[in-house]
Amino acid sequence: EDTCKYTGLIEDCCCDFESVDDINGAVLHPLLQELVTTPFFRYFKVKLWCDCPFWPDDGMCKMRDCNVCECPEHEFPESFKTPSLNVLPKDDPVCQEGKPEATVDRTLDDKSFKGWVEVDNPWTHDDETDNEEMTYVNLQLNPEHHTGYTGPSARRIWVAIYSEHCPRYAYGEMCPEKKVLYKLISGLHSSISIHIAADYLLDIKNNKRGPNLKLMRDRVLKHPDRVQNLYFTFLFILRAVTKAGGYLDEAEYDSGNDLEDVKAGELIRRLVQNPKLQAACALPFDEAELWQGQGGPMLRQQIQNQFLNISALMDCVGCEKCRLWGKLQILGIGTALKILFSVNDKENPDTHLLLQRNEVIALVNLLNRLSESLIFVNKMGTPPKEIINRP
Ligand code: FAD
Repeated sequence: EDTCKYTGLIEDCCCDFESVDDINGAVLHPLLQELVTTPFFRYFKVKLWCDCPFWPDDGMCKMRDCNVCECPEHEFPESFKTPSLNVLPKDDPVCQEGKPEATVDRTLDDKSFKGWVEVDNPWTHDDETDNEEMTYVNLQLNPEHHTGYTGPSARRIWVAIYSEHCPRYAYGEMCPEKKVLYKLISGLHSSISIHIAADYLLDIKNNKRGPNLKLMRDRVLKHPDRVQNLYFTFLFILRAVTKAGGYLDEAEYDSGNDLEDVKAGELIRRLVQNPKLQAACALPFDEAELWQGQGGPMLRQQIQNQFLNISALMDCVGCEKCRLWGKLQILGIGTALKILFSVNDKENPDTHLLLQRNEVIALVNLLNRLSESLIFVNKMGTPPKEIINRP
């Protein structure tokens, strides 16, 4: 039962489940796993402070395991006080729960990452240009996993997203534009749930973690549409990465660590110019099919506004570590939307692709999260053999 796999075409995409699984397992997943450990891709600039525009009473994390930053200096282990961290002012705490899992490094700002532009993204709420109050987070030390964030605070965010900003499309809906946002969010939601289940806090007292297969089945695997949407989101982001391939290939990955930066550039090249990927799934998603009808531009504007609201909602996630990954992944989707729908098309013929460093970091880390989720689905999945494509 456990080896059972999805088969058939992924709805609204151009590839089938098996090809995606094969290329992900053999090529993309190992490559991405290495890429996200390079210094350029592991430091994400983010405003962790929550100023929720919707519910002023929420947004502060009360649970220790949610914390990414802000804790008293005495908790910070001696072994982490590297010379670079020592230069921080004494009243600027860098310790997180006394554990390495949550280290924020605020020392990297101007010295590193040369050659990137500051340019607004019309799809997202906050970006790198928003310099004040932003810190660098080492993503490798802050994994996305089960934090215990649950209850009304978490639920109302998903409820707001699905009920107000991207309602599930009507049964029988054929227009792909009307489905795209829901599918992207649902796919991301599946991926978040899979990461929660894959690294679950099984024993809170002893801080013991491990997989929670029941949770993975209940929340994702037994819902074929949620699995399907996960694959859709993966292919959508993959298409954005390959569409921006020329730009990403020429970009400068400069974090101040020459060897590691050369490696990051090479891995990016192998990702965007991969003959095996070309052979397996040359066009993961066909954005040229969208916005063709008369109502196209209006529909795009409407979806852009909906996505902006979802992006703003991330400031209401009441758990810091979840907020970090929520913001990163929503910025990753926003970057993909910008690449696929706002540049060099009929509506914007004169716009050329310009990306912020943070957008590229979010895009690549999101692709890695989704790629990991596909691996988990394959390992643990017990879905029906044939997916029936239904809306
Ligand atoms: P939820 O996951 O809260 O789902 C709510 C409802 O949405 C479900 O009842 C179902 O009707 C619907 N639904 C569920 N999955 C899908 C899907 N894939 N597609 C469509 N509809 C769906 N918790 C952590 O422990 N770690 C994290 O890193 C983390 N990150 C989060 C990031 C964000 C942005 C948010 C909003 C929450 C995050 N959470 C995280 C909380 C987590 O997502 C759940 O909300 C929490 O575990 C409670 O789960 P639940 O069973 O109530 O269902």
